Amino acid sequence: MENMRIALVTGANKGIGLEIARQLAEAGVTVIIGSRDAGRGEAAVADLAEQGLAATAVQLDVTDGASIAAAAAAIEASHGRLDILLNNAGIFDFTDAAPSSASISAVRKVLETNFIGALAVTQAMLPLLRKSPAGRIVNLSSSLGSLSVNSDPTSPYFAQRYIGYNTSKAALNMLTIQLTEELRDTSIVVNSVSPGFVKTDLTGYGVMTPAQGARLPVQHALGGADNGRFVEPDGYTPW
Ligand code: NAP
Repeated sequence: MENMRIALVTGANKGIGLEIARQLAEAGVTVIIGSRDAGRGEAAVADLAEQGLAATAVQLDVTDGASIAAAAAAIEASHGRLDILLNNAGIFDFTDAAPSSASISAVRKVLETNFIGALAVTQAMLPLLRKSPAGRIVNLSSSLGSLSVNSDPTSPYFAQRYIGYNTSKAALNMLTIQLTEELRDTSIVVNSVSPGFVKTDLTGYGVMTPAQGARLPVQHALGGADNGRFVEPDGYTPW
């Protein structure tokens, strides 16, 4: 059992994160479900157990430093290392909007969760990832975080101006770029992965199922040659 890979998926109690957890467990990975609400995490574990898939849950609010530190300590105590980190937890806020009118408190909250949260979790988990023979970090990004897409009038996403959400994913992409360089001499690879347009509670809109949206993040969590790339279902997204 010791050579099974160990993965932490943040925000894995529902949506794409839960499907990532399911597909990783199906692939034989030891999955830790991060959930800011312990009860919702246990419900997700029970959901997977109904399909004969084993997983554990850890309370993890990505905006709470004490929660992050406790989760890292718990993973250290039970596994001693981490092989895969999926920074999946994220929010969207309908009072986020174009720069002239977005709610400042919504923008602050979105940045705090989607970017600072992912950065803080990554910092806390890095010592455990460094103990892996082949660590992998997958940051759940979005085409909306591409500066190129945001400035391309021919892009279908051009009119989607959410200054908070789009900036949070652009910042997350910066984390991917800078961390890739910082970890260049290690065995840890880092990628930004856009799942596609997936119908979840995030917005209630989308054309893909959560299971379909989980495929690409899972693929990059399990392997592949990409490092420091921004990938989406159709190929590579320009930064
Ligand atoms: P979702 O169904 O709303 O799930 C979001 C998850 O994040 C939930 O488990 C939620 O927990 C968790 N979360 C929110 N704030 C958190 C916090 N402070 N600490 C820990 N967990 C927190 O959304 P989704 O569509 O699956 O989104 C997953 C990721 O994919 C997000 O990063 C999103 O930006 C990204 N993404 C989604 C799409 C799409 O089309 N859906 C497209 C591109 C990228 P609770 O249940 O406790 O709220």
